[in-house]
Amino acid sequence: MKKLIYLDYASTTPVDKRVLKKMNDYFTINGIFGNPSSYSNIFGIKAKNAVEKARSDIANIIGSKEEEIIFTASATESINLAIKGIITNYSNNYDQKNIITSISEHKAVLETCNYMKKLGIKIIYLKNSNIGSIDLNILEKKITNNTILISIMHINNEIGTINNIKYIGNICKQKNIIFHVDATQSIGKYKLNLKKINIDLLSFSAHKFYGPKGIGVLYIRNNKKKFKISPLIHGGGQEKGIRSGTLAVHQIIGMAKALNISVNEIDKEKKRIKKLKKQLWDGIKNINGIYINGDFKNSSPYIINIGIKDIFNKILMMEMKNIAISSSSACISNTHTSHVLKSLGLTEKLIQSSIRFSFGRFTTKKEIYFTIKYLHFIVKKIRKNI
Ligand code: PLP
Repeated sequence: MKKLIYLDYASTTPVDKRVLKKMNDYFTINGIFGNPSSYSNIFGIKAKNAVEKARSDIANIIGSKEEEIIFTASATESINLAIKGIITNYSNNYDQKNIITSISEHKAVLETCNYMKKLGIKIIYLKNSNIGSIDLNILEKKITNNTILISIMHINNEIGTINNIKYIGNICKQKNIIFHVDATQSIGKYKLNLKKINIDLLSFSAHKFYGPKGIGVLYIRNNKKKFKISPLIHGGGQEKGIRSGTLAVHQIIGMAKALNISVNEIDKEKKRIKKLKKQLWDGIKNINGIYINGDFKNSSPYIINIGIKDIFNKILMMEMKNIAISSSSACISNTHTSHVLKSLGLTEKLIQSSIRFSFGRFTTKKEIYFTIKYLHFIVKKIRKNI
């Protein structure tokens, strides 16, 4: 098999050609290349207008106001800004405050919390159910009068588990706790309307929905809770002083275009992807010793994480080199074993036999058909040689 098959869309997506075409108008002397902060000249004004149009498009799609959108360089940066930006305001009494999060969050959340922990703040880590989602009763029990922030992801990037962010948002509203959601795996794939969900802070980035890398958003609700976000990056005061630095106009334009396309195609695409996930599982579920990590039904159609007993994932991935799959999240697959799979109670051996397939816009039935055939063939080959 010569053709390469990409099934690692949860790690990143290729830029859609329609997005690239739009971005191309924002680089050269013939295009809109000005600095949106230098709006004393026409070049800057044009750039500022383009940025504000993109901001307004993104705001409309997620149900927010324009002024609630802050551009960053990545979801990781947005998450850092959300958590550190809130907590820094309590530096006089860190030891009396706590943050609640879960053990299966992305490292961007876990490592930021770890950093805050070193400064003296208490972090309460929620365990998962055996399918990887938050137990809402346990969450409510863990809340104390000193809980200032709850940070929970919408869709888990390794196993696709979906958390009930609407319910958690309601608890946070009742108890006057700030709620941050890492929506990196759901924006562009799920319709999120922030008018209907009580989320105070929301992080995401464009490269997960066919936009460019290097651009993200932190949504900051402007409401009665009146919380303040302290900046991490100081400088020219862009983005209301919350995130200084010249705005990456071409990236922002690309992000808005990519989100527009994704949202317009959302229902049709989700249906198509759901069928592909089922096709894959139906085709491989009879492999001896195969198991699903998480839950097939109550999870994102875009992700499936499976394991095959006694088949080491590193060997499997080496053998299947024409098919891009992953052993876990992109940022940990080369270093540590998966904390998410560990949180499901898997042994080290089972974790090392697990792989993630993630589907996207350019995945076809034919590719899944090939993947099924190839997986059967490779598993047989490896077992023969053991
Ligand atoms: N959160 C989740 C759930 C993710 O899947 C990722 C990326 O894999 C991130 C955060 C970090 O996103 P970025 O690469 O934009 O920093």
